[in-house]
Amino acid sequence: MPDVSRASTDAQLRRETERWVEANVPEPWRVAALDGGAALRRVRPRADYEAWYPIFAESGLAVATWPVEYLGLDLTPEQARITESVLAPYNLGRLNPLGLNAAAPAMFAHGTEEQRRRFLPPIVRNEERWCQLLSEPGAGSDLASLATRARRDGDEWIITGQKVWTTWAHFSEFAVCLARTDASVPKRQGLTYFIVALDAPGVDVRPLRHLGGEIDFNEVFLDGVRVADERRIGAIGDGWRVAGSTLAGERQMVSGSGSGGVDRIGGAGMDQLVRRAGELGRATEPVTRQRLMSLYCEERVREWTNLRVRAASRAGTSPGAAASIGKVHQGSLNQRIQALAADVLGMDATAWVPPAGAEPGLEYATGMPLEVKGMLRSRANTIEGGTTEINKNVLAERVLGLAREPDQWSSHPWEEVPR
Ligand SMILES: Cc1cc2nc3c(=O)[nH]c(=O)nc-3n(C[C@H](O)[C@H](O)[C@H](O)COP(=O)(O)OP(=O)(O)OC[C@H]3O[C@@H](n4cnc5c(N)ncnc54)[C@H](O)[C@@H]3O)c2cc1C
Repeated sequence: MPDVSRASTDAQLRRETERWVEANVPEPWRVAALDGGAALRRVRPRADYEAWYPIFAESGLAVATWPVEYLGLDLTPEQARITESVLAPYNLGRLNPLGLNAAAPAMFAHGTEEQRRRFLPPIVRNEERWCQLLSEPGAGSDLASLATRARRDGDEWIITGQKVWTTWAHFSEFAVCLARTDASVPKRQGLTYFIVALDAPGVDVRPLRHLGGEIDFNEVFLDGVRVADERRIGAIGDGWRVAGSTLAGERQMVSGSGSGGVDRIGGAGMDQLVRRAGELGRATEPVTRQRLMSLYCEERVREWTNLRVRAASRAGTSPGAAASIGKVHQGSLNQRIQALAADVLGMDATAWVPPAGAEPGLEYATGMPLEVKGMLRSRANTIEGGTTEINKNVLAERVLGLAREPDQWSSHPWEEVPR
């Protein structure tokens, strides 16, 4: 653990963090990181990074503004900006992004001290992974209209309903879950926020395979799942406000400015694409070159903007509505980059031969070029974490101060709203 505290000077913070990097980050990783993402991926396979990660978690540097008892260093946002600037070149991505960006903000803002002590350290260590049970088949953009019910039974709640699109539920231990505890009040007032253990009786996680052949998200059925009242985050009926802290964190993450962005957004990076276009002899075609350069510049601007937002966020500043700006831009930009990657591939992007013994029913996806996978995956970028249309509404209302979108049912009891 670096020997730093709120009393440390800027020079001490920088020196201690550099010392920690030298002593703890394997040298080949440090060298490769300075050569860029592709070089780093070669020497640092994900499994090695996961095995090493507890060293990072225990250092306090992964969540430097968090209090020491939750594995932080209790630094001020300004101090954390300094430690973060020393770490940045080494590309030490945070694992468990939904734990850090979706569950933790809700616990910090609305949870109890017992909840924070119990759940935050295992989140930082990546020992307990998290997902979020929010969207339902009938409630996505209009999340507040959701129908999963939670009924009080003594010191417990009994939750019944169906969630969908639950990213990473198939390997998570816990989920934050928004459920309706009172149907007789308007939709946003009758919701409560819970922590649900995914191994509890009555939880059925069913993986959904997407077009690229992989499993990222699931549908989750909750059939009379018992949750202790001490696992409620925030007051009964205050779930909408609690969910707000989760959703801002998720938008920031999906925009690429949070810890999980790069992995989550999917597909080839711009550097890879430029190299590939060169290998295939496409980089000298005037129109392709023009498209490459234009997207390259836009991607650099996005990266620098995200680095600023990420540094501010790791330094403890809430992303707020600004997270929507990155989300809207990143979604469209990545779709254009992935479309160009498929164009550069030419005919190979439209047909390929699956290798012998391809998994039955999945032949179309087996052997699919990475560029095509990236292009298909990128379709989700303008949907996940709130659609582009909804994020534009957020920007219009909360950043530009325009009139709120009309909703004739917002003050009616939920049970009287037609659906
Ligand atoms: C890859 C992926 C991962 C996801 N992971 C999770 C997860 O882990 N947990 C979770 O809870 N959810 C998750 N989601 C769900 C995601 O949040 C929803 O898909 C999203 O909010 C949209 O909801 P919907 O699919 O019900 O679409 P709908 O809300 O039905 O929207 C359909 C269309 O109508 C438009 N629209 C709707 N309302 C308005 C409006 N008021 N103004 C203008 N246009 C509007 C939308 O923009 C969209 O184009 C994930 C989704 C994807 C694609």
